[in-house]
Amino acid sequence: MREARFIPLKQESPPAPASGAVLPLPLAIASPLPSGVQAPLDLLHRPLRDLRISVTDRCNFRCGYCMPRSVYGPGHRFLPHQALLSFEEIERASRLMVSLGVRKLRLTGGEPLMRKQLDQLVASLAPLQTPEGTPVELTLTTNASLLADKAAALKAAGLHRVTISLDALDDTIFQRMNDAGVSVRQVLHGIEAAQKAGLGPIKVNMVVQRGVNEDQIVPMARHFRHSSIELRFIEYMDVGASNGWQMDQVLPSEQVRERIAEHFPLQALPAAQTGETARREAYSDGAGTIGFISSVTQAFCGDCNRLRLSTDGRLYTCLFAHQGHDLRAALRAGDDDDTLRARLHALWQQRQDRYSALRGTTASAGTMHSHAEPPADAARRIEMSYIGG
Ligand code: SF4
Repeated sequence: MREARFIPLKQESPPAPASGAVLPLPLAIASPLPSGVQAPLDLLHRPLRDLRISVTDRCNFRCGYCMPRSVYGPGHRFLPHQALLSFEEIERASRLMVSLGVRKLRLTGGEPLMRKQLDQLVASLAPLQTPEGTPVELTLTTNASLLADKAAALKAAGLHRVTISLDALDDTIFQRMNDAGVSVRQVLHGIEAAQKAGLGPIKVNMVVQRGVNEDQIVPMARHFRHSSIELRFIEYMDVGASNGWQMDQVLPSEQVRERIAEHFPLQALPAAQTGETARREAYSDGAGTIGFISSVTQAFCGDCNRLRLSTDGRLYTCLFAHQGHDLRAALRAGDDDDTLRARLHALWQQRQDRYSALRGTTASAGTMHSHAEPPADAARRIEMSYIGG
C-alpha cells in the first residue's frame, strides 16, 4: 500500500530546533523557464548534481558526534508524522530536481531504514531518468543495523547501492560510540546481506575521532581489504551544534593515510568524477581501494554540487547552512511543476556556499586553534541528523 498523501487538518507543531531559520523558496523570474534554460549554475559556477534526501529525523543510534543522548534523550521531540514530506512529495521534488541536473539521489536520515515502507519510496524514485534518458543513480546511507531484513526488498524495489557507516570493529569501542547497544556483528550481518542482494559497489564510512577510535584505523583497513568494499575515512566535522566539536579531535587524513601505509603500501588514484568527496588510493598489492574524505583539512567546496532536502521539506544548499528554504510550503500551496521548477532554478542560481573553504582560510591564517570557532556561528548550525551527512 502506498503512503497516503498528507492533507493538513490542524496547525503543525513548531519547527524542530535543529532546522535553523526558514525562508520561502525564491520567486521564479520566469515560469515556465525559457526553452533551452534547464540546468542552473550557482554563483560559483557549480552545477546541481546530487540531491540528498533525509526521510526521517529519527535514528536508533546515539553517536556522540551526531545525536548525543544528552541532547536526543527520551524527552526529545522528533518531527510529528504530518510534518514529514510524503513519498509522493519526495518523488515530485526529486523529479523536478532531476530535470534541473540532479544525477544522483541519496536517501539518508537520521537512519533512513526507520522510515516505514521505504522500499515503496525507492520504487517510485527508481524509474527517474535524466533529460538525456540515463537512469538516475539511487543510493542509501545507513548504519546497517536494520539492513539484514531489508536489503533484498530494497534491491528489488530498484535501489542501486548502499553506503554504510561503521566507526570501529572492536565491539566495546563501537557500542560505546553508538550508545545504543548495537553490536559490530549486527552491522557486519547487514553488510553481508547488502552484498548478497547485489547492492554494490558498497562503501563503508568511518568517522575518525582522535582519542576515540583512532586505534581502529588499521584493523578496519585490514578487515575490508580483499572484500571489494571501499572503506573511506572521514575527518570528524563541526556539523551541527550539539556535538561540542573541537579542532583537536580531528585526526587529519594525511595522518590516517600514514598509519595505513605503514602496514599496507598505497598509491594514489585519479578522481573518478567531478564533485567526488573522497580522494581515493589503491593498495599496491591489489587488495582494493580506500578513500579519504578530508572535509576539515582539504575543503572540496570548489566543485560541491550537493543539495539537501530535510525530512520536513526544507532545502539546504550547504551541510553547514544556518537556514533552509521551504519547499514543502510551495508543494502544498499548489504551485504547478513549471513554477516549482523555476523557483528551484532560482534557488540554485543564488547559491554561494563554501563553508569549509572559508574555515580552511581562517585556519591557515593562524586564527583557528583547538577551541576556535570557524567563520560562521556554530550555535545556529543545523544538525546532521536533520539533513543527513
Ligand atoms: S561546506 Fe558546504 S559548500 Fe563546502 S563542500 Fe561542504 S556542503 Fe559543499
